[in-house]
Amino acid sequence: MRGLLVGRMQPVHQGHLQVIKTILQEVDELIIGIGSAQLSHTVKDPFTAGERVMMLTKSLAENNIAASRYYILPIQDIACNGVWVAHLEMLSPPFSKVYTGNPLVQRLFFEAGYEVEVPPLFNRKIYSGTEVRRRMLADEDWQSLLPSTVVEVIQETGGVARIKHLNRKEVSEVDH
Ligand code: NAD
Repeated sequence: MRGLLVGRMQPVHQGHLQVIKTILQEVDELIIGIGSAQLSHTVKDPFTAGERVMMLTKSLAENNIAASRYYILPIQDIACNGVWVAHLEMLSPPFSKVYTGNPLVQRLFFEAGYEVEVPPLFNRKIYSGTEVRRRMLADEDWQSLLPSTVVEVIQETGGVARIKHLNRKEVSEVDH
């Protein structure tokens, strides 16, 4: 059986890794869609789709998950929710079950006739992209929320300096 999990993964954190491991106990192969692939360089979506591919590929390898078990696909958003499932079907290997905690994703696949399962949440209060980005901006410990290979990708790409720069307010000349 082939399953699907879609997420923005800004960035990939321990919650994503745990949920992927849990789903892989049930499916033969998992399609991991990197959602909002067109977005990057904002405080809410700081990382490019390519950087998120690196985060996933390296953290799955770090956890000894065989590359033959998954496909990683960047998926751009589209303006019409009503045809998003068809958009995904066009881009993805076929799948029969969808795993998601996101109510909109649940609803769209349910209405399209897919089996949808809500996987368990792992420590969602801290294993959340919002919390990781907040800690980066506040100079708090963000590293412990991420697989170590994801920390390395963020260091390699200057991710913390990027999100801090993007969070600056523009200052006009008279304010100098
Ligand atoms: P996300 O990165 O927040 O979460 C991805 C998945 O991981 C979710 O199923 C979530 O439940 C799970 N997860 C997150 N933290 C977890 C934890 N601590 N423990 C266990 N599981 C955890 O991403 P998301 O918001 O679900 O991503 C949905 C994507 O689909 C977005 O990119 C969105 O834009 C896209 N989308 C696009 C359209 C469109 O283009 N019209 C429509 C619907 C959805």
